Amino acid sequence: MAIVMKFGGTSVADAAAIENVARIVAPEQKSAPVVVVSAMSGVTDSLLNATTIAATGDAQRAFTSLENVFKRHEAAARELLSDPRREEFLKQLSSAADQISRELELFAQKPSERKALQDAVVSFGEILSSTLLAAVLNERDIKARQVDTRRCIITDDEHTAASPLLSESSTQTQNELLPVIEDGIVPVLGGFIGATTKGRTTTLGRGGSDYTAALIGALIGASEIQIWTDVSGVLTADPRVVPHAQTIERLSYSEAAELAYFGAKVLHPKTIQPAIENSIPVRICNSRVPGAPGTLVGPEAETSPRTIKAIAHKTGVTVIQITSARMLGAYGFLRALFEIFDRHRTAVDVVTTSEVSVSLSLDEASALPAIVAELEQLGTVNVKKGQAII
Ligand code: ASP
Ligand code: MG
Repeated sequence: MAIVMKFGGTSVADAAAIENVARIVAPEQKSAPVVVVSAMSGVTDSLLNATTIAATGDAQRAFTSLENVFKRHEAAARELLSDPRREEFLKQLSSAADQISRELELFAQKPSERKALQDAVVSFGEILSSTLLAAVLNERDIKARQVDTRRCIITDDEHTAASPLLSESSTQTQNELLPVIEDGIVPVLGGFIGATTKGRTTTLGRGGSDYTAALIGALIGASEIQIWTDVSGVLTADPRVVPHAQTIERLSYSEAAELAYFGAKVLHPKTIQPAIENSIPVRICNSRVPGAPGTLVGPEAETSPRTIKAIAHKTGVTVIQITSARMLGAYGFLRALFEIFDRHRTAVDVVTTSEVSVSLSLDEASALPAIVAELEQLGTVNVKKGQAII
């Protein structure tokens, strides 16, 4: 059975980081790893920024803004690869640059196609990082092959926020990956990207590489999905606030989801949905401390009575209190109240109620004035901004 190892942008930021990834993958070859990788850190932002420049009509300036992106890939390749692999990668890099330049021209000329063209441009971050990483693994005698994720993850055509089509992706992913794994070769895939049934490049939304990893893990029935990042798993508290915070060894999926929601930025619950549905454990590991066990997130986690596993917090929260004697013994009050939030498409986070009052917290308060005006028809409204949830 295979495992999935996903490396984020900081884990492939430069030659030293990529070399480190090779060191982490090497001893795992016996576990049949499938490697999923993000773009080098900052590259997705730079590519997006280039499309913003191209939108002004200046495709040339958009392309020159990417000079540093190409230089970083070139520098890493020169440091880590020797010929003929180096030569080969540099050719791929310059052909990618040509394609990006053409896509940016189109971007400037065809406003109606912009979302699709943005995906095409942005996808090169992951295409290049996965191509480079596969070459580096081979250079280090780890048999590896870059597999184009767009042949595996088939999506709808919601460009920039595409959703995978499961049955198509399942067949494709198995057809593409299983023979490679069986040959003892490590498949290396870029995260975040996919393609429509017609073959147009799509992306799954920012930070989508974790989702790709969970999805691939679910589609090939992996025994574990490892998310390699630059922190030591999920911590008992935010280390910027509590310097001696410790790694939590085990968490259940739902505990991890609650923590993620309230500030622990390690794993977004939506991204590991495919793992949850298939009960595949997700391990969060630190690429700077490869030997450490990290945090294992799985279907169940032991509970220890009278202990707290973690403390998370979130700031910038707005608290609204509505007090009304009309609530006493009445029905329909809460429905009327929540319908107001519904109408203004505003999510409510935490709710407490007493006999005559309701307090709730909001994260996103842009519709606040309109909401408060309507709430005032139900009772006395008290708004406190700049609060926190602990
Ligand atoms: N490179 C993409 C982004 O920066 C996807 C990812 O890193 O997960 O959003
Ligand atoms: Mg990420």
